Amino acid sequence: MRIIRTIAELRRVLDPERAAGRTVGFVPTMGALHDGHLSLVKRARVQTDVVVLSIFVNPTQFNEPSDLAAYPRQEAQDAAIAEGAGVEVIFAPAVEEMYPDGFATLVRVTGTVSETLEGFHRSPSHFDGMATIVAKLLLAVEPHLAYFGQKDAQQLIVVRRMVKDLGIPTQIIACPTLRDPDGLAMSSRNSRLSDVERQRALAIPRSLSAITATVASGEHETAVLAAIAEGILASQDLRIEYVAFVNPTTLERVQWVDAPVLCAIAARVGDVRLIDNAVLEPKT
Ligand code: AMP
Repeated sequence: MRIIRTIAELRRVLDPERAAGRTVGFVPTMGALHDGHLSLVKRARVQTDVVVLSIFVNPTQFNEPSDLAAYPRQEAQDAAIAEGAGVEVIFAPAVEEMYPDGFATLVRVTGTVSETLEGFHRSPSHFDGMATIVAKLLLAVEPHLAYFGQKDAQQLIVVRRMVKDLGIPTQIIACPTLRDPDGLAMSSRNSRLSDVERQRALAIPRSLSAITATVASGEHETAVLAAIAEGILASQDLRIEYVAFVNPTTLERVQWVDAPVLCAIAARVGDVRLIDNAVLEPKT
């Protein structure tokens, strides 16, 4: 496995692979690798010949400097994990490589898909930062396939929109959310939870399970479902940012579960902000 720091070097390594007809699979991450990331790598290994994983904590998508500073960084450990999982190339550029002096370009996906939920609650520029860095990474790696987690459902929708709009020749593959045995969605941020906070955080997957079960029993009204989730989250003193019921493609709010609906939750446990979601299927 090679660790590459520059776009030029990345091209030197990947151009001959592509020329030889080998397909490139790409897993973008911010590091602090866990099994959720590795599930993307596993899928990439099955579907492509050369797997590239990037590690870049992208400053432009963080709205809180304290969140950026506290984001876990453990490159040596990540490199060992990635190598064990069969990654051939790690691309881990410095901030200056991705944002050279005088950097002045933004990729902005406009409209509901980027301005609601995370875009609204974190900052309107959150998805500008994300879309810009993902566009840069896709241009640098030129992968045939790129893998994203459903855990960040809105990110996936914004990336799909951008790739389609810009005609980027990469197929985007969505992968299901991996959870720990207690139900908590795996996240690099979970390492910042104390034992007590982790127990409280379980209210998030419990809310999603309760909503799913309530829909299965025939309830269709999202206001009723929201109240159930909010009750469970509040019982553990979580600070709710949103419990939203939206169209899984357009992210428009919906009132009824009469077609598949994305239920997305963002809540804070102490200082740690967590997100999770589930797709609700209407009872037939
Ligand atoms: P991150 O390092 O948090 O930016 O995540 C990198 C990629 O891994 C994104 O596409 C995430 O959606 C995906 N990912 C993060 N957590 C999980 C998880 N628990 N299960 C599946 N994919 C995940």
